[in-house]
Amino acid sequence: MIVPTPKEVKAKIGVFGGTGFYQLSSKASPVKVIEEVEMDTPYGPPSDRITIAEVHGKRVAFLPRHGRDHRYPPHKVPYRANIWAFKALGVRKVLAPCASGSLQPFIHPGHIVILDQLVDFTKSRTYTFYDGPITTHISFADPYCPKLRKLLIETAEELNLDFHPKGTVVVIEGPRFSTKAESKFYTMAGFDVINMTQSPEAVLAREMEMCYAGIALITDWDVGLEGHPEITPVTHELAVKIFKENQDKLRKLIFETIKKLDPDEDCECNNALRDARLK
Ligand SMILES: [Zn+2]
Repeated sequence: MIVPTPKEVKAKIGVFGGTGFYQLSSKASPVKVIEEVEMDTPYGPPSDRITIAEVHGKRVAFLPRHGRDHRYPPHKVPYRANIWAFKALGVRKVLAPCASGSLQPFIHPGHIVILDQLVDFTKSRTYTFYDGPITTHISFADPYCPKLRKLLIETAEELNLDFHPKGTVVVIEGPRFSTKAESKFYTMAGFDVINMTQSPEAVLAREMEMCYAGIALITDWDVGLEGHPEITPVTHELAVKIFKENQDKLRKLIFETIKKLDPDEDCECNNALRDARLK
């Protein structure tokens, strides 16, 4: 695997848009678009054209991970191409919002969770850039960048958002939603939120030595909530509707975080490969 070196650094900050988040700019939070970049990678093309925009004077690359028209379901997202493309553009810090379900009664639809842990229950994806001959084992005890997390938490506090400063996400294969028994099992195991895209995206970002933060916007209560028969199980339509209703606060959080973010700051994530190989 050859790590791409950018011919020209177009952006040092990257944002992956999730379900319902197909454009960086919105009426409430407009941004200046500089260009749209069509890319190809050794893993095929990324999910879509990449938008290079300016947010608070900083260049940001934006890519909707499912494509603008949501053509890639979670198990078919070209994760390696997307991460490779960001790396080739010069991206060092990745903010990754994602629509998620809540598995706990204290996490409500509309809340934001700054993820700190991940449990991978996916089944059929490609999880690494390193298939040999150089064997590489990255550390993943803390899957999310501590510095980006800290900045997001500070910003969410300042904006007075309904948010949780930590949470464990269980990533499921999809594209179907959970059964009641599966969901109960995840809740009993202590997981907080459920999603279909955080793996392998977070893993591949670490392999490319990029800082990565997962920001879960809660759209539903997965299969419902015990003692509340009025809460129906999630549908795709419901997830998109709640996401759209809450997307402006998510954009605000992302843009205000970018305002404070130093894309040149060095972090342990940017040296993830240092101790990952046999010497
Ligand atoms: Zn980092």
